[in-house]
Amino acid sequence: MKVPFMDLKALHESISDEIQAAIKSVVESCAFAGGPFVETFERQFSAFCQCDYAVGVGSGTEALWMALLALGVGEGDEVITVPNTFIATAEAISFCGAKPVFVDIDEHSYTINPELIERAITPRTKAIIPVHIFGQMADMDAIMAIAKKYGLFVVEDACQAHGAEYKQRHAGSIGDAGCFSFYPGKNLGAFGEAGAVITNNPDLAQKIRVLRDHGQHQKNDHGVVGWNGRMDGLQGAVLSVKLKYLTGWNQARRDNASHYNSFLSDIKEVKVPGSRVHNKHVYHIYSVRVSNRTEFMAALANKDISCGIHYPNPVHRQKAYMELGCAQGSYPVAERCANEFVSLPMCPKLSVEQIEYVSQQIRQAL
Ligand SMILES: *Cc1c(COP(=O)(O)O)cnc(C)c1O
Repeated sequence: MKVPFMDLKALHESISDEIQAAIKSVVESCAFAGGPFVETFERQFSAFCQCDYAVGVGSGTEALWMALLALGVGEGDEVITVPNTFIATAEAISFCGAKPVFVDIDEHSYTINPELIERAITPRTKAIIPVHIFGQMADMDAIMAIAKKYGLFVVEDACQAHGAEYKQRHAGSIGDAGCFSFYPGKNLGAFGEAGAVITNNPDLAQKIRVLRDHGQHQKNDHGVVGWNGRMDGLQGAVLSVKLKYLTGWNQARRDNASHYNSFLSDIKEVKVPGSRVHNKHVYHIYSVRVSNRTEFMAALANKDISCGIHYPNPVHRQKAYMELGCAQGSYPVAERCANEFVSLPMCPKLSVEQIEYVSQQIRQAL
């Protein structure tokens, strides 16, 4: 049985008429760059996140970068984050002129270990970026308490966590800002590149709106040096359609994860992902840990099962960040997990039969 890592085509087939109609209305109105379709989506997405404002931008990377810029992060500042993330989290810090400072993760949730944050804080620390990796939120109460104590900003990297919750509060809505990616494969994906920042702070929202539009607060009046970071109208329209289905799709991912958990729970060589009781995990990625990953993945590939690795090399061990001088062993939990993670096929359209087949093949492979 062929099991793709994810099946976007199947996901879109069921809503194809609605998507076509949305695209047609953008084409007919020619509102391609920013404009009414983006504004409508911003209103809908902020309401979905139970947050006051959403500002649509070009990508998740740009959302992180502009949120940090708008908070005044710049040259000489340090921003704390984790090494087990997509490199964009660190790039956004670097592109502000600031320095990423890594903190190791918790062994079970794979999110930042709050007990290790305080020792990483220096007089130059300006912000913390917790990453809600794989679709599970970091321990926000502990993080917000530390941020308050030291006067730091918190920018949530919610690029993998659309609709995730922590104690009934939505991903992105707890910190000063929350950043989302709508890269096609994310839980809420555009038909191309897109992203958004959400916030409850009206001044911050306004600063980001100005930054994404060449620093102009009104036409031809450029008060600050900005950038072209607008969201496309087509993406806004497609996202408005797909947002209506996000809760159902997230529930399907959660059901799929619990099927995997029950099929795999008695295999002692496989560590299934943990979800904290107060968290609503949305399983952007369902990552298990195994000790012999290469053979494991080869055996599954042999059975037409596509897996992934998120991410094989933590950010501090990437050549791009060698200058930070973080030796092997600096972040032992993140490094150990990076060596063991295997992302199994996961998407809303995965069937129980497929999940059972993958689980059976895992049993055989071991
Ligand atoms: C996808 C992702 C990003 C970057 O988003 P893009 O839209 O691809 O720029 C940032 N952080 C994390 C954790 C991500 O998964």
